Amino acid sequence: MPRLSEVIAALDALWPPSRAEQWDAVGTVCGDPDAEVTRVLFAVDPVREIADEAVTLGADLIVTHHPLYLRGTTTVGAGTPKGRVVHTLIKHDIALHVAHTNADTADPGVSDALAGALDLRVTGPLVPDPSDPAGRRGLGRLCELDHPETLREFTARCAAWLPPTAQGIRVAGDPDAPIRRVAVSGGSGDSLFEQVRAAGVDAFVTADLRHHPVSEAREQSPLALVDAAHWATEWPWCEQAAAQLDAISERNGWGLRTHVSRTVTDPWTAHAPSVTTPSLPGAPN
Ligand SMILES: [Zn+2]
Repeated sequence: MPRLSEVIAALDALWPPSRAEQWDAVGTVCGDPDAEVTRVLFAVDPVREIADEAVTLGADLIVTHHPLYLRGTTTVGAGTPKGRVVHTLIKHDIALHVAHTNADTADPGVSDALAGALDLRVTGPLVPDPSDPAGRRGLGRLCELDHPETLREFTARCAAWLPPTAQGIRVAGDPDAPIRRVAVSGGSGDSLFEQVRAAGVDAFVTADLRHHPVSEAREQSPLALVDAAHWATEWPWCEQAAAQLDAISERNGWGLRTHVSRTVTDPWTAHAPSVTTPSLPGAPN
């Protein structure tokens, strides 16, 4: 049975903390390095529901993509939502470890998992990491479809193969436009428009797209935009990461039990399609 420190060392080899963005807060949030680990739960968000799930499961370690505290704090009091998570974890001897931007740019990383979920063939990173001589690490991925399809069909593919959320899939573009090459980036992607346009792809799959960046991008090129729920674009990484740890556990004879949380922690909980109301813009007269 491995100690937490051994498991963390293996995770750090997959996603070296030194490769995280400067503003990020990755690594071990809580946990005793000498504690034994038997069960590991992977999830996107270190929220109360996930902490409670780990307790029910009897997990000794949670690995999440998002940090618990991104900025400094002066309290872990249980009267705060994040402090409550810390209390729950420590009371039940559960460690929490975060791999965020260091997992985004890894090989394989978050966007490889997203491409895999959509059955897209990855051809390389969207924004290559200059420190990788192999040219495989970096932010986002450029992908190809085996057979071109219309934006309408590609949207249906995203809706069917990403985990279901209240948001579903939002799209900007001509539904009949042919899609052959695609850029994908798990999580918030609207800072990447310039690189996506330069790559000359037909569509960009990401999350959290805002009015102005989308409006400007649509004015500049016929690039189709496919916006899924943030959680849905990153959840496939949990399965990929669990499989990576399974392989390490097998090599080392650790006998770890890994689990991937199916709890939807996307914060949006409902979506109402618009209803046509006479006298409002868009209504037939
Ligand atoms: Zn994210």
